[in-house]
Amino acid sequence: MKRRTGQDPSITRTWKPATQAVRGGTARSEFGETSEALFLTSGYAYDCAGDAAARFAGDQVGMTYSRLQNPTVEMLEQRIALLEGAEACRTMATGMAAMTAALLCQVSQGDHIVQGRAAFGSCRWLTDTLLPRFGVTTTTIDARDPQQFEDAIRPNTKIFFFETPANPTMDVVDLEAVCAIARKHGIVTVVDNAFATPALQRPMEFGADVVAYSATKMMDGQGRVLAGAVCGSEDFITNTLLPFTRNTGPTLSAFNAWVVLKGLETLDLRIRRQSENALKVGSFLEKRVPRVNFPALPSHPQHNLFMRQMDAAGPIFSFELEGGRKQAHALLDGLQLIDISNNIGDSRSLMTHPSSTTHSGLAEEKRLEMGVGEGMIRINVGLEDADDLIADLDQALRGAGL
Ligand SMILES: *Cc1c(COP(=O)(O)O)cnc(C)c1O
Repeated sequence: MKRRTGQDPSITRTWKPATQAVRGGTARSEFGETSEALFLTSGYAYDCAGDAAARFAGDQVGMTYSRLQNPTVEMLEQRIALLEGAEACRTMATGMAAMTAALLCQVSQGDHIVQGRAAFGSCRWLTDTLLPRFGVTTTTIDARDPQQFEDAIRPNTKIFFFETPANPTMDVVDLEAVCAIARKHGIVTVVDNAFATPALQRPMEFGADVVAYSATKMMDGQGRVLAGAVCGSEDFITNTLLPFTRNTGPTLSAFNAWVVLKGLETLDLRIRRQSENALKVGSFLEKRVPRVNFPALPSHPQHNLFMRQMDAAGPIFSFELEGGRKQAHALLDGLQLIDISNNIGDSRSLMTHPSSTTHSGLAEEKRLEMGVGEGMIRINVGLEDADDLIADLDQALRGAGL
């Protein structure tokens, strides 16, 4: 395996994100394949016993076992790191493996986390249910207000953990303000950037320490595989994350890494077209339903902050009906083109009712604290023609009495 001439880091680091997404991290075998090779191997052979010993001792560069390294996986990790502008990245089997590793690798009994109220349901389970079993406590705040982070700090606060924009309320967190508070107090910021991806928002440019992804979403982008990633400084990845993941094994498979590599090639194109479509659909819905939670719309209270942090709208937002679960389900049941599905980031348009699906595992009071009401619907706007999507929503809204 060799890097193509010109693929040395001092040059690749200067490429713009759309270039990184196609070229970043590419390594070629002696066959010179243009598309990245898929290395389905769990182990590696050595020329001699001395080489094996040297590799295990870290004195020789090379791979030893695919829980630890794999050429296809490594290409993806380098590509994501370059896109993110991060010193290093490690991929994981799923987004939740990434979130779990990013938190667990750095907390110990007695530590405290401050988290945003709105979050992916399993992220809340991690912080509200799993971590307390090991003596790690969490304070939940409304992350739209940076001051609430500062007010929640205790002497043992180790991490600020939040999503922006957050699932499914679309709460926007002021990255610059919150990361500055964290820096002042020696707290590590862990940002779940799944909705935006590095194509639209790079939290490290605003001072974030660790950025974690569900690559299942926009990075794959076609609803095929599960994957996750954690980006951070070389020091964090090598000395804090890797000891945890090398021994616990949330490793991404080479096949899934290869699929995400192919997905990243079109990330910039897809996310920009899906953002355009989402804006069209959002503007339509704004005239038809009582409330649209989409910060890309000028009417949204956090519009200016959102546009300062994001390059485009992104494909996901939510909206609310007054008729609760009954009306929300009626609207979903009337859809003819858009699928009822709880996935996001797909090139197909998908809609779900969070309180009876993605967030149904949480107690009702927790859902209400997060802002997830019974009339809320989340939409992922895909690559179909926006006029067809609007026509489908129009007829389904009529059917639901709207
Ligand atoms: C989907 C998602 C996750 C979890 O990712 P998986 O790949 O499904 O494990 C975490 N955070 C956010 C914001 C998500 O959308």
